Amino acid sequence: MSARRRPLVAGNWKMNGLRASGRELEAIMVGAGELSGVDLMVCPPATLIAQFAGLAGGTPLAIGAQDCHPEPAGAFTGDISAEMLRDAGATAVIVGHSERRTCHKETNADVRAKALAARRAGLLAIVCVGETRAEREGGSARDVVRSQLDGSLPDGLTAHSVVVAYEPVWAIGTGLTPTTNDIAAMHGFIRQRLASRFGDTMQAVRILYGGSVKPSNAKELMSVADVDGALVGGASLKAQEFLAIAGAYR
Ligand code: PEP
Repeated sequence: MSARRRPLVAGNWKMNGLRASGRELEAIMVGAGELSGVDLMVCPPATLIAQFAGLAGGTPLAIGAQDCHPEPAGAFTGDISAEMLRDAGATAVIVGHSERRTCHKETNADVRAKALAARRAGLLAIVCVGETRAEREGGSARDVVRSQLDGSLPDGLTAHSVVVAYEPVWAIGTGLTPTTNDIAAMHGFIRQRLASRFGDTMQAVRILYGGSVKPSNAKELMSVADVDGALVGGASLKAQEFLAIAGAYR
């Protein structure tokens, strides 16, 4: 991990959490005070963003969102714009998570439009890419990730307006992880691809690994070359586990 890249550990709470979960967030904030050298973020469901942003205000803990609509406003029942997320206190938004790509049939073009919306609203876009098990076994993981990067990232990105999360679909919520060699190879490939499209400043972009990161494997995964932090699902719901993962950077 380059000295120029400050690691980020972000928790994706998915469709979990009620207002009472503010207590868990407070526990994360207390523990976060003892960590330095790592950025921490929690991405709760949209219903909790304003509450969590209020609780975390003035602390280093950032609050992100899990998705946004490409348009700033309009007749899109049930959707939430990037501007609304920003207004609620979010500073980042995850786009293109595999659960959105699969359950909501989001294409690379959809993800690109959402990443553009994030930029328009002044939110950091955390763009997810990753292959399925069949694609990995069929030897096309790199091609899949290449076309997701090419199709999902808008032109004109800078290292500070985007974070890429490599999340092999088969590793999400399964307890399985790629080998450290496979992770290093994919992260190196992603950085090279970003640099060839956006320029050498992409040496500073953060590339997170996601998929079954837990306290027991965090240190090993976070020390892989070109891994600049983690996007954590299940293990981010419990303050103790989330903080233990971030503690890999202690
Ligand atoms: C995720 O969904 O982004 C994720 C990484 O989940 P988990 O950590 O539970 O595998």
